[in-house]
Amino acid sequence: MTSPIFALFDPTYFLVIIGLVLSMVASGYVNSTFRKYDQYRSRSGVTGTDAANYILQHSGINDVAVTQISGNLTDNYNGQTKVLSLSQSTANSTSVAAIGVAAHECGHAVQDATNYAPMRIRTAIVPLANIGSSLSFPLILIGVLLSFNQTLIHLGILLFSLALLFQLVTLPVEFNASHRALKILGEGGVLTQEEVPVVRKVLTAAALTYVAAALSTFLQLLRLVLLFGGDRDN
Ligand SMILES: [Zn+2]
Repeated sequence: MTSPIFALFDPTYFLVIIGLVLSMVASGYVNSTFRKYDQYRSRSGVTGTDAANYILQHSGINDVAVTQISGNLTDNYNGQTKVLSLSQSTANSTSVAAIGVAAHECGHAVQDATNYAPMRIRTAIVPLANIGSSLSFPLILIGVLLSFNQTLIHLGILLFSLALLFQLVTLPVEFNASHRALKILGEGGVLTQEEVPVVRKVLTAAALTYVAAALSTFLQLLRLVLLFGGDRDN
């Protein structure tokens, strides 16, 4: 491990590969779950847009605009502009999968309106996490090239852990958005009692991609600590 080049492709690289496999499995699972339940029409016949408007109205949210954007599963809620964007396939579809996706984004709008703490924390650490993920590897690499400069390497690892922190805070935000969405849809009768578990399945599959991403980042951090965490002075 004296050569800087070999230091980046050592046996601990298998941790990175495990992370990649986990992410691929999670994204394959979410895609197949969506395909399956995209065929399942809701009994009420409402579209994703209808469901979104229903939830916003029943949550007393009047300052959020629902719009359409292009792309597949590009649905998102922007807290800064108060715009809830639904992809065309979500907006116009009456499938339980589409209603679930639209409802999940409304869950974020409700979190925003009620000052849900994990969402506030998440928004606050976005800049830190961005700095962390863009600077950590260059710093570590420079540290390695400067004959294992411990200060730079440790700073790089610390910055990388900010990216993990961001992904960990994302988990309650994502699970809570789906939970809120399902509650409103079930109680309001937009979904039947048989449809609620189906939508839960779709939203849980979607949330698993965030779990896989966090695990994958954790494994990368573990690898960095295993490689560079110890003191090299002795
Ligand atoms: Zn979300």
